[in-house]
Amino acid sequence: MIIVKTREEIELMRQSALVVSKTLGMLAKEVKAGVTTNYLDKLAEAFIRDQGAVPGFLGLYDCPSTLLCSVNDAVVHGLPTDRPLEDGDIVSIDCGALMNGFYGDHAYTFEIGDVAPETKKLIQVTKESLYIGIREFKLGNRVGDVGYAIQNYCEGHGYGVVRELVGHGIGRKMHEDPEMPNYGRRGRGKKFIEGMVVAIEPMINGGTHRVKQLKDGWTIVTKDGQPSVHFEHDIALLDGKPEILSTFAYVHQALGIESNEEDEFRQDALVL
Ligand code: MG
Ligand code: MG
Repeated sequence: MIIVKTREEIELMRQSALVVSKTLGMLAKEVKAGVTTNYLDKLAEAFIRDQGAVPGFLGLYDCPSTLLCSVNDAVVHGLPTDRPLEDGDIVSIDCGALMNGFYGDHAYTFEIGDVAPETKKLIQVTKESLYIGIREFKLGNRVGDVGYAIQNYCEGHGYGVVRELVGHGIGRKMHEDPEMPNYGRRGRGKKFIEGMVVAIEPMINGGTHRVKQLKDGWTIVTKDGQPSVHFEHDIALLDGKPEILSTFAYVHQALGIESNEEDEFRQDALVL
């Protein structure tokens, strides 16, 4: 059952999402060659607690960490490790926070130093597909419309769309109805309703869509060893349209990236 939120609850959810956005922005300055994901994890936990929130993943389904850091061929759910990041790596950092009873959950894929052009392209297309999916999250549409749009765009570039892991509704629970697959058929699935909030999160592989789980019981990697990219936003359905609650603006600011990619999905200008 989809749990709709009031305007007031959506504003609280925006605060939770922004805790994660600021955490990703803080991490953007720290993600570089020589740094371990265990170190990033400790930084993130302290940063989230400093903001009066608690890490959203830590302890959830027995997750041992604040961040999930998926390097290169890792798709999602990568546990932080003591392996230093290297020039040419990519790392998808997924982060959750719980504040005022509501969860935020969002993710960004970072480049370390000089990344191969084909991997840069995969990052660019995956990020574009996130917004192509968000554009379909509107009144009158269904779950399948978002999935179809993401799948069609990414497969059109020859990439693999992961099937086993999906986006989701979010609220007082990290994972609520409906499931939001990154594949689907137009006009199929649950109808979108005013006041619902979802996490849309394309997980796109450079090669095959097939994945496997490592022996750590968490990390999901591509079956063919090709890189995989993950971006995620939290979005509310307000006035029939998608309203992004999270933002990459802090990351962009830290990395010196100029972007207006979120503007069409925000009713009020964002003040950093
Ligand atoms: Mg996430
Ligand atoms: Mg999620």
